[in-house]
Amino acid sequence: MAVTLETPLARVLGPKTATSMAEQLSLHTVRDLLRHYPRRYARRGEMARLDDLQVGDRVTILAMVTSVSSRRMRQRHGTITEVTVGDGAGSMKLVFFNNKHAKLEQGRWGLFAGTVGTYAGKLQFTHPDCHMLDDDTGDDDWARALVPIYPASKDVSSWVIQKSVKLLLGPSGELGELVVDPLPEEIRARHGLLSLAAALLDIHRPTTLEDVEHASERLKWDEALILQLTLAARRRAAALEPGIARPRRPAGLLDAVDAALPFELTEGQRDVGEELAAELDRDQPMHRLLQGEVGSGKTVVALRAMAQVVDAGGQAALLAPTEVLAAQHARGIRQLLGPLGRAGEIDGDPSGTRVTLLTGSLKAAAKREARAEVAEGRAGIVIGTHALLQEGVDFADLGLVVVDEQHRFGVEQRDALRAKGNRPPHVLVMTATPIPRTVAMTVYGDLEISTLRQLPSGRGGVSSSVVPQSEKPTWLDRAWERLREEVAAGRQAYVVCPRIGDVAGPDDEPEDADGAPDDDGGSERRPPLAVLDIAEILRNGALAGLRLDVLHGRLSPEDKDARMRAFAAGEIDVLVATTVVEVGVDVPNATVMVVLDADRFGVSQLHQLRGRVARGKHAGLCLLVTDASTSSSTGQRLAAVAATSDGFELARLDLETRREGDVLGAAQSGTRSGIRLLSLLEDEELIATARAEATALLETERGLADHPGLAAEVAALATDERAEWLEKA
Ligand code: ADP
Ligand code: MG
Repeated sequence: MAVTLETPLARVLGPKTATSMAEQLSLHTVRDLLRHYPRRYARRGEMARLDDLQVGDRVTILAMVTSVSSRRMRQRHGTITEVTVGDGAGSMKLVFFNNKHAKLEQGRWGLFAGTVGTYAGKLQFTHPDCHMLDDDTGDDDWARALVPIYPASKDVSSWVIQKSVKLLLGPSGELGELVVDPLPEEIRARHGLLSLAAALLDIHRPTTLEDVEHASERLKWDEALILQLTLAARRRAAALEPGIARPRRPAGLLDAVDAALPFELTEGQRDVGEELAAELDRDQPMHRLLQGEVGSGKTVVALRAMAQVVDAGGQAALLAPTEVLAAQHARGIRQLLGPLGRAGEIDGDPSGTRVTLLTGSLKAAAKREARAEVAEGRAGIVIGTHALLQEGVDFADLGLVVVDEQHRFGVEQRDALRAKGNRPPHVLVMTATPIPRTVAMTVYGDLEISTLRQLPSGRGGVSSSVVPQSEKPTWLDRAWERLREEVAAGRQAYVVCPRIGDVAGPDDEPEDADGAPDDDGGSERRPPLAVLDIAEILRNGALAGLRLDVLHGRLSPEDKDARMRAFAAGEIDVLVATTVVEVGVDVPNATVMVVLDADRFGVSQLHQLRGRVARGKHAGLCLLVTDASTSSSTGQRLAAVAATSDGFELARLDLETRREGDVLGAAQSGTRSGIRLLSLLEDEELIATARAEATALLETERGLADHPGLAAEVAALATDERAEWLEKA
């Protein structure tokens, strides 16, 4: 049988290898293995960068044996063999008990794989896997200047992968010649790209680093084009769905909202509003992402769209990530609508509608009543958390789905809510995490995008500073003083800690671990500061006499809501909280935020947190307290957050400190992106070009019909996605 990209690895490799590859590296087919590219290339004669190794990493290194010594163990029976590899500058010890790899002789080169440990302050591998380079006699593999180092696993070493790939590709890439090249000839010619066969051969068995570069340029194209085709196909499918037009109607709820607004809309809010109004008026469902800086006023834009849909006879649902936020939205919208939001109640306006809050914490009877309002269509505006997605929540006529803080949800949740419409409803998703253009083109590539750039005028703005505790120990006292001054002037403050804390001790997890990269790497770091401890300390010390309370995820929803309300009403001066206040919380009188252990939070998260202050006319202050030194990379990351309030800039910085996979994974769980080489940071131009090519390809009469290789790759990506969905379900 001829081998194709779809052939299962079990048919071409030994059963043990195939099973381990499937289980440990998710490699199932020939395509998977050929697209499992080396992470880097080691050069014989050039020492491994042993100083870059981190304890706990599983790594493969190429190095020379510099010494070997064996001795009897004193305590136990048997011998211990210590082998040093590397050179004078960087070296590493390999330790073997009772047996020693026969070929470990001074002067020989080998690949060594294991988990980096330490002993007496020196890096070491205990019982590493070894592969001496001249083992395979008559084999040219190791004579090559560049040795590929693959992402490996416990039972599948880098050299096993190398041999398996070689077996598949054939010594000169013969298999590559046989499989269909997914990239259409014209596209390859237009952009000067290698053939698939040449690219695969060069990425797996390069002679020079230049080979690698050309190969990866071509292979990145595959990734970008296939992803963009998938997204373009989704956009087209969505455009063909039959939706229901919800045209604007004068003298209805929308006009009432506009009349009740205590402020003028910004120009941006008006423009986006027009855009949404026009799209809701089409019988093709809207799929739009509204991104706007923290505090740019997205809620009111969404509310106006919801009002238009209600005026047209439909219902609108607003999905929020937390109960605190859902309750806040319900409160704000009810307040704004007044009697118009209480139709059916004694003091309600019969021409209005009902605003219904549906969250998991509602008592059974209240939940039943809320569901009935939703099912019978009495509730025009339905606000809720994940509880909205549950079975048994049925809408009479769902016309618009709004997802607030989209980055907290996955696509599947957006889709679960959409599925509750009789016909596909319009969808508006909102995020305050600014999205770099490349991410927008990939992760959100099936959505149209609107942006609110401007903040409402008259905002005081936030100034931020880093408080480096080890270098400026007195600054923290000064920070508490500043906080007291603000409270004395009638303002309020947040103190944020990474952890809740408990009498039960140190095993409680950070409230929200989408956190900062841990580049100080020490396992001896103290546990993160905890809300409960800090509240106690502040109450009895620096903030004695102030009205102080705590807010965190372990409180009951009623408790959380009560405290949030009290804070909003100005009955609490200082809220010591976890990241439950991260998203959406809106108390304009709050002007100070002190973030403790700021280094434990990610860049975007800090920007979000900071967005909680200076939402009114008063200037805000955000203090990022940290033990990290100003010169460390962590310190510099914090300095960058303090230095700019431009969310786009920070999103870029965030992207730099995270891996592509994390970004894609967090933003769109449930989708395997097929991205291995493509960099969202560096390949902006390539992604944009691929997007244009994908759109053009699909617009041709025959679509992908003349490009079976490409169609197969797109199908393979879709299968991966589906497989992942099934696992999740
Ligand atoms: P976000 O975009 O972060 O969700 P919100 O919608 O919560 O921001 O709005 C932040 C604050 O700004 C709210 O208190 C809101 O009432 C207020 N606001 C919204 N639009 C305007 C405007 N045009 N002028 C003044 N204040 C506004
Ligand atoms: Mg918001």
